[in-house]
Amino acid sequence: MKVLVVNAGSSSIKYQVVDMTDESVLAVGLVDRVGIPGTTLEHKPVGKDKVLIKKDLPDHTAGMKLVLEVLVNEEYGCIKSMDEIGAVGHRVVHGGEEFAESVVIDDRVKKVIKDCFDIAPLHNPPNLMGIDACEELMPNVNHVAVFDTAFHQSMEASNFLYALPYEVYEKYRVRRYGFHGTSHFYVSHRAAEMMGKPFEECKIITLHLGNGASMAAVKGGKVVDTTMGFTPLEGLVMGTRSGDIDPAIVFFLMEKLGLGTTEANSYFNKKAGMLGLSGVSNDLRDILEAAASGNERAQTALDVYYNRVKGYIGNYMAKLNGCDCLVFTAGVGENAIDIRENICKDLDYLGIKMDVEKNKVRGKEVDVAAADSKVKIFVIPTNEELVIARDTYRLSK
Ligand code: AMP
Repeated sequence: MKVLVVNAGSSSIKYQVVDMTDESVLAVGLVDRVGIPGTTLEHKPVGKDKVLIKKDLPDHTAGMKLVLEVLVNEEYGCIKSMDEIGAVGHRVVHGGEEFAESVVIDDRVKKVIKDCFDIAPLHNPPNLMGIDACEELMPNVNHVAVFDTAFHQSMEASNFLYALPYEVYEKYRVRRYGFHGTSHFYVSHRAAEMMGKPFEECKIITLHLGNGASMAAVKGGKVVDTTMGFTPLEGLVMGTRSGDIDPAIVFFLMEKLGLGTTEANSYFNKKAGMLGLSGVSNDLRDILEAAASGNERAQTALDVYYNRVKGYIGNYMAKLNGCDCLVFTAGVGENAIDIRENICKDLDYLGIKMDVEKNKVRGKEVDVAAADSKVKIFVIPTNEELVIARDTYRLSK
């Protein structure tokens, strides 16, 4: 069976076709600026040249329709007919407390995705648009929802509750959910495989460091804790998100800067983090370059970033009572040699010692710990699409 993996954002649709006989990827693509003038579709069939199509598309249904045409195109398609697609896997950001696993989409599932609109207003509405568009165009195949929150649902109340009046949890579902769950799931399982140990017997700290960033502490096959919370704003310092701050700063700055709630939300999500702190960019490559050429503010921003990650490593070491391995993944974690080195510096008391020579790798599965490190340090490229394809296949066979 071939599975189509779809990740629909507010103005974009990412897709991948995976052949489940050998889990090979047949094509990947991205429709950008859906519903905005200047829509583009970039399609890359494996083993063939990239194709760029420019055509304004009013909505997600029109976007998906073009994707399906491209997939069966004689010249640059990757399948002969749509009958080859046996199921569609959809990335859905928020499954609330309802879903600890992937599910076949039916009316009840769609209702839950909709019920989560108020707690995931930027993500769940476009995710549902993608599902509706695909169901309309492919009514005879299974559609499966794979949630970013699902893996973290194994967290216990002692880690997911905020110290707020309990009624706000009961009434408004204000609690910690965690995100990037599919990535934490993939890399923690791979780490267990690389250690040759049953997943249920491992203690793993995963570091998904991308433009958005989060960490998770995994023990006995379950997430004990994760850094993102009610929304993806909590936790680590990210490209444009502040991560942890004193919540009183929000009220203070709303007053000082005259921000309404929507503007304040945007301020802490889009203007803060490494962008706001460094004044250079949200991209860590630019900040590393600026720091290397003497920009002190960029260096300070990096130091804040490292300290936050180190703090959470200590936190999770305490919560797990030690760990077998750290796992670095996502854009920064897979590629930023200096950043991995600085995070792991001076952690030998915790049994973490990096081999800085081995660490000089990018985008490869490798253990970069020193021979005498108690804790392994893995670099593992994440593969959320493969998890989505596997779950979709498993639920559609
Ligand atoms: P992601 O969100 O996982 O796609 O990661 C994207 C981010 O990875 C970019 O914004 C960069 O900050 C970062 N990145 C990618 N390559 C490097 C690199 N070689 N060094 C530092 N940061 C990198």
